Amino acid sequence: MSLIDTYGRRINYLRLSVTDRCNLRCSYCMPEEGVEKLGHCDVLSYEDLLRISAEAVAAGIEKIRVTGGEPLVRKGILDFLARIAALPGLKELVLTTNGLLLKEMAQGLKDAGVQRLNISLDSLKPETFAAITRGGELQRVLDGIDEAERVGFPPHKINVVVMRGVNDDEILDFAELTLKRPYAVRFIEYMPTCGDADWRDLTVPGAEIRERIAQRYTIEEGGSTERSGPARNFRIKGAPGSLGIITAMTGHFCEGCNRLRVTAAGVAKGCLFSGSGVDLKPVLATGDPELLRQEIQRIVAAKPGRHEVTDEGVETKPFAMSRVGG
Ligand code: SAM
Ligand code: SF4
Repeated sequence: MSLIDTYGRRINYLRLSVTDRCNLRCSYCMPEEGVEKLGHCDVLSYEDLLRISAEAVAAGIEKIRVTGGEPLVRKGILDFLARIAALPGLKELVLTTNGLLLKEMAQGLKDAGVQRLNISLDSLKPETFAAITRGGELQRVLDGIDEAERVGFPPHKINVVVMRGVNDDEILDFAELTLKRPYAVRFIEYMPTCGDADWRDLTVPGAEIRERIAQRYTIEEGGSTERSGPARNFRIKGAPGSLGIITAMTGHFCEGCNRLRVTAAGVAKGCLFSGSGVDLKPVLATGDPELLRQEIQRIVAAKPGRHEVTDEGVETKPFAMSRVGG
C-alpha cells in the first residue's frame, strides 16, 4: 500500500512525538520558562501510539522517527521502541535525541531495534552549547555520541540548527568534523517557532552555508535515499562523512516532503506549520483500526502543497517545537 497526497508526493515517513517534556530548554525550541506541560492524560499512551504506528505502516508508512520533546526522558521508552521495531512492514526505525542520556541508554536503544540516531548538537564549544541549550553540558553529549558508536550504531546524523551571530561561526568546524568522523552533519535553517519577530535575522540561508564551506573546500554532490526527505546532501572531497542542508525556510523543502507528524497529544499534522491538525483521540476511542487507517489517509490527502511561513505578510503563530516534534 502507498500513501500518495494530492500533489503526487509519496508519504512514507512518520514523525512520532512521544513526549512534550525535555531535559533541556534550547532557545530556538522553547521559551526559558519552558512550555506548559501536557497533563498525563493528554499525552497518548504507548498503546495508542503503537496503534497509530501500526495503522500508519499498514497504510504505507515505511520509516518512523521517534522524537519529542526529548524521547529518552519518557519512562518505558525502550520497551515501546522494541514494540515499534517489531511492526511488520516497517523498514526503518530511527530516533532523534539531544544525546544527554545516550551514554546510559545507547546499548538499550540498539537492543530495542533502533537503526540510526539523529543527535542534535548546535555547538562544539562548551560555553556556546550551554548558552543555546540553557545549561546543557556538551561533554555529556559527546560521551553519549561515542558510546552509541561503540555499541554499533551506524554513523550518526548530527543536526545543527544554524543561527546567525550565535553559532554560524562554527559552520566550518562542523563541516570539518566530517573529515575526521563518518557522521552525516545536517545544517538546519532556523525556523520561527517561539513567536520571535526577528527570526529572519537569525536564519542563515542554506545557500550561504554551502557557499561558506565551498569557499574553503572542494565539495562533491552526494545522493539522498528514498526515504531521506528534503535534505540536500554533499561532501567535502575525500571526507568519510557527509553534509546536508535542510532549507526549511528558503528552499524547495516542501516539494520533496514525505512526512506526516503525530504530536504527543495525538494530533496528526500533514505539515509542521499546519495550525490545528487533526485530533486522533476520538477515532482512537472507537477502538476501530479501520477508522484510524481511513483518518490517516484523509490527513495525507489534505496535506498542503507547501508552507506559507516565508510569504510576505504571513505571521507565524508561536508554537513550541518540543510539542510538535521537530
Ligand atoms: N529533543 C530532541 C532533540 O533535540 O534532538 C528531539 C526533539 S527536537 C524538537 C527535534 C529537532 O528539532 C532538533 O534537531 C532541533 O534542533 C529541531 N528544532 C527545534 N526547534 C527548531 C527551530 N526553531 N528551527 C529549526 N530546527 C529546530
Ligand atoms: Fe529539548 Fe530538543 Fe527542544 Fe532542545 S530541541 S529543548 S533538546 S526538545
